[in-house]
Order: sequence, then C-alpha cells, then structure tokens
Amino acid sequence: MKLYSTNNKGNIVSLEEAVLNAFPKDRGLYMPTDISKLSENFFEHIKEYSFIDIAFQVASNFIGDSISNSELELVIEESLNFEAPLVNLNENFNVLELFHGPTLAFKDFGARFMASLIGVFMNKLDQEQTILVATSGDTGGAVASGFYNVSGVNVVILFPKGKVSFLQQQQLTTLGKNISAIEIDGTFDDCQRIVKDAFLDKDLNEKYNFSSANSINIARLIPQSFYYFESYKQLDTDKKIVYSVPSGNLGNLTAGLFAKRMGLGIDKFIASTNSNHVFHDYIQTGLYKASPSVQTISNAMDVGDPSNFYRILDLYSSTWNTIKDSIDSITATDIETKNAIQRIYTNYNYIADPHTAVAYIGLERVMDKDKEVGVFLSTAHPSKFIDVMEDCLNMQIEIPDRLDRLKNLDGVFNSLTKKFEDFKEFMLSK
Ligand SMILES: *Cc1c(COP(=O)(O)O)cnc(C)c1O
Repeated sequence: MKLYSTNNKGNIVSLEEAVLNAFPKDRGLYMPTDISKLSENFFEHIKEYSFIDIAFQVASNFIGDSISNSELELVIEESLNFEAPLVNLNENFNVLELFHGPTLAFKDFGARFMASLIGVFMNKLDQEQTILVATSGDTGGAVASGFYNVSGVNVVILFPKGKVSFLQQQQLTTLGKNISAIEIDGTFDDCQRIVKDAFLDKDLNEKYNFSSANSINIARLIPQSFYYFESYKQLDTDKKIVYSVPSGNLGNLTAGLFAKRMGLGIDKFIASTNSNHVFHDYIQTGLYKASPSVQTISNAMDVGDPSNFYRILDLYSSTWNTIKDSIDSITATDIETKNAIQRIYTNYNYIADPHTAVAYIGLERVMDKDKEVGVFLSTAHPSKFIDVMEDCLNMQIEIPDRLDRLKNLDGVFNSLTKKFEDFKEFMLSK
C-alpha cells in the first residue's frame, strides 16, 4: 500500500511511514494511491463470510503486501474481538450497533486496529513511539485501552476541560502505566491544534517520535470500513440502501465512502451533524467555513473544522456536485436530539444514545421510505451519557460492568492552558 498527501500528490509514502508519522509536513492528509474494487466473486459470496473473513479481505485490498498475511490476520483477530450486530427496528429502519468494544464506543474499531498495527511495526524497530491524541470524548478512552501495555509505545491524551462526560474522563485517566492524560483549558479544537503544532515543532520532534491516533491516521479509517460490508451483508432488500452516519471529524463517513469506492452497494450517505454543522452547510451550499465548536449533548461530534473534510474533497476531486450526489446531510439541535431519543424509545422500545439519535434524525428527514431502506450507525452505548439519557427517558439506564467499575477509581491527569508553548514546555520537561 502506498499513500500520497492531499496537499502534494507527489509526496508518496509507505503504510508504515503514514501510520507512524501520520501528519505530512505539508499539512495534508495521507490518502491511499489506489482504492481498488473488490472482486465480483467477493460480493457474490459475501453472505457466507464471517465478519473476520470480510475484514481480512477488505484490509488486504487496502494494505496489499505492506505487512504479511499472518501479521494481518493477527491484527484483525486481536482488534475485532467483539460483535457489530445490525438490529432491525421496522421495514425501513435498522441500527448498526458499533459500541460493543471495551470502551463502549465505535472508536474501539479504529483504535484497536491501529494499536495492533503499530505493535507489528514496533516489533521490527528499535525505538520508542509517543502517540499524541486529542479527544472530544470517546477517542481518548479507546486509544488508551487499545495501547495499554503495548511495549515501546507511550500515549499522551489531550482532553478539553469540563467538556467530556465523567465516565469518559475516567476512561482516560485511570489506566496509568504507558497512558497519560492532560486536561486543556479550552475546546476540542484547541486540543487538536496543539497536537498538529506539536507534529511540526522542531524541538519536540528532536525529543519524541510522535504518531497521531486521531482519525487523521489512516490506520483508524481502514477498520472503520469493515462494518459497512458486514452490515450490508445482513440486509435483505431490493430497495436502495442509505446509511446515516453521526458525524464529527468525518472519519466514520470517510471510511463509508472508501467502502463504496471498493464496490459496496450503498446508494447514499447522510452526514448527520449536531449544532456543529459546517459540513452540513458545505453539502447544502458548496461553501466550507470552519467555525469554533459549540458544546452539545452529542459531545463526540463537537467539531468545528473536521479534519477528514479534506479527504472527502480529495476522494471526489473537490467537486461539490459529485460529493452532493453521494452525500446528503442534516443538522439537529439538542432539543431535537432529546425528542428523538424519546421517539425512538416510544416507537421501537430501543434506547439510543444522543449521537445515535442524531443519526436517526438523518434517516427520518432524508430517507424516501417507499424506495429506500436505512441503516443508522449507533456509535456509543447509552450509559456513556447517563445523565442526558435518564433525564430524557425518566428511567434508570443500566451501566455495563466494564464502565461501572471506573466510577470509584481516582483519575490522574495534568492541567494546562490552551497555549501551545505551555504544552511544549511541559513535554520538554517530562
Ligand atoms: C467520534 C464519535 C463520533 C463522530 O465520528 P467521526 O468519525 O469523528 O465523524 C460520533 N459518535 C461517537 C459516539 C463518537 O465517539
């Protein structure tokens, strides 16, 4: 597998380089030089394949001979050790549950695959790697869990002060060992900016080998395409198929677009956004204008300048018309989201977290029920947002053990301002 930078197509690197050094110096994002279609034979037999088989075939199609087949099998078996069930609600609505991993969010797919792949590369290299990651809620926990105890790798997580839920914060701050967390007095976008600046800072790069675990890292996107195939396999319909993706940094949506490029028969995507709707505005008007993020109850989507936007542009040669043919969009306020949580419960007896509810609204508003069948992606377990859920539904939400046991642990973290210089000084003095 070879990759180029979206800012300079002549800048071609190996998978190892793109994964370990996720951020090209030209500030672009790495894209695969070739996303080839899977064989007809694969699609004819897809129903006979297990999730692991599908993942292996899709991953090989991306990765080629960058690592050996046995290494790839190991990476997939280690990282995909949980299910992604498709739950049918009625003749039009299906929900794809992506939250059955160790941290109860879909970020486990990307983070675990990436951790395991980096493990393969680190086995062959004699160096320490530092993974820097900004989180708006769920990434940090998934990355922390994925890399916990991986030798040769230290993880530094930046999270915005007071803007992640209590249990999310506990997931980042209670592991210890090779995982450390820093609270930034600012927004997610501030955290993301600090990470980007760190990659370009000469002094820091003399001391550290940095990698990023944000969805700018291509290793996060590859596994996120697997479950589009796996869920498609389970749909039995002659109608057109629409996927609604609750979107923040647009990594999940980009992975879906990769799947479509590989030949998967998804007719349309819906980018479902909360009040951070710069991508929705782009789809509707053709104009892109980054803006500061605002806080919502679907906090993992509070992103004002989604990094994968530039991958989507690249995938469609920057033509708004063709992008808009493949992607529709919606934006939902917190009140609309809460109403949707209640509606989903009343109509289907199903408990959807706020992110999932935003995706549901996308299908409700955009899907043509006569001609289309919809899948909305459920990206987090409702217990991760217990206050909002209990408030909305007036009932007790069950917390799975692996989350509940974090309640009483003491979290450990450092606190810094949103100035890059402070972060730099901290890292240099460590
Ligand atoms: C990260 C996240 C999203 C947004 O996914 P992107 O790939 O950043 O668009 C949606 N829901 C949940 C629960 C998340 O953690």
